[in-house]
Amino acid sequence: MTVPQVDTLIIGQGLAGSMLAFQLVARGQQVLVIDNDHQGSASQVAAGIINPITGHRLNLTEGFVDYYTSATAFYAELESALGISLIKQVEQVRLLKNPGQASYFSKRLEQDAYADFLEANTATTLFKEQQYGSAKVKQTSIVNTSELLAALKRWLIEQNAHLNTQVDYDELHFNSSGVSYREFSASRVIFCEGYQAINNPWLKDLPFKLAKGEILTIEKPKEKLREELREELRAKQKEEQTQMLSWGNWLIPYGNDCAKLGSNYAWQDTDLTPSHSVREKLLNSLEEQTGLKPTVLNHQVGVRPTTTHRHAFVGGISKQAGAYCFNGFGSKGCLTIPAHSQLLCDHLINNTQLPEELNKWL
Ligand SMILES: Cc1cc2nc3c(=O)[nH]c(=O)nc-3n(C[C@H](O)[C@H](O)[C@H](O)COP(=O)(O)OP(=O)(O)OC[C@H]3O[C@@H](n4cnc5c(N)ncnc54)[C@H](O)[C@@H]3O)c2cc1C
Repeated sequence: MTVPQVDTLIIGQGLAGSMLAFQLVARGQQVLVIDNDHQGSASQVAAGIINPITGHRLNLTEGFVDYYTSATAFYAELESALGISLIKQVEQVRLLKNPGQASYFSKRLEQDAYADFLEANTATTLFKEQQYGSAKVKQTSIVNTSELLAALKRWLIEQNAHLNTQVDYDELHFNSSGVSYREFSASRVIFCEGYQAINNPWLKDLPFKLAKGEILTIEKPKEKLREELREELRAKQKEEQTQMLSWGNWLIPYGNDCAKLGSNYAWQDTDLTPSHSVREKLLNSLEEQTGLKPTVLNHQVGVRPTTTHRHAFVGGISKQAGAYCFNGFGSKGCLTIPAHSQLLCDHLINNTQLPEELNKWL
């Protein structure tokens, strides 16, 4: 490692630090990204779903169209730079669980803003019963987050721009030309530590509302499909590669033989022990809705850096010149980080102003 002087020191190589680093380098900046490889970080666990419609009332995510436009352009740029495939469209079939939700769905079908996102589903699904029907949620995608993190780590290492260590905040020293850390110096540091920002003396008082979540990797139950859908098996297996089911929980394809089942929200809980009761709840809910009883291959836990006001924290830290924050992407990092990293790059390089809701807490 021979890069003692860089433009920007980035602490954290989760989705936030990784995508920000890529954007900065694409704009000619020299970066050094430091990461402690923490297994409870949200990015290590994230399912990568980009979902326009959420909640009982089937609400369209605020700003979805702009975020999605930015995200798809960004992932395409990353795919071409790294020579890998990172994002795929999936067909999401969402179960309407009760008369109240079915009535919201009918309302949404009449609203222009929802025309590009929702339609009634007529295709067969794995749901056991669909008393109130089901909806197709269009423009749903899945980002391969583990591939993204691994590929960007390799890319950073190739450029001598990655250091695997735990940053001790006492080792950061600010001076008139920026900041120094051990033998390295930079014009600025950008903190991207996800939920571990609660250990950062400059950020620990921000209004985070952390949300622990758990995900199971399960083996695809092939035999059941064979019995029930023998004649359609081939078509069905092809379809399964791109079909997501949701009913409050969700099931997404993962590789050829597995699927991921998630998730839950345990507020302000940062204990990284997998919970037996969450595992049972997820499996019972899957069986109740689909009849599937899969084998569990893996059980992961992560903590989402969610905020009380549902906006990210992006910008300079007022009490420390040379220090910036890029955090608070909650449960929608795959959708929102690309647009936010663009905003921060524009701010740093072209001195553009950041929206007030992003930096007013900093
Ligand atoms: C169960 C679960 C499911 C999710 N599913 C989805 C989903 O389907 N779609 C979606 O868009 N989002 C999802 N998310 C949310 C998504 O994971 C987050 O929005 C995103 O990963 C946040 O990324 P981050 O880089 O800000 O934080 P993190 O992922 O927490 O990354 C922070 C990084 O900083 C490093 N770090 C921290 N402190 C230090 C230090 N002192 N020194 C060195 N390194 C340090 C950590 O090791 C880590 O690599 C999910 C999250 C969870 C928990």
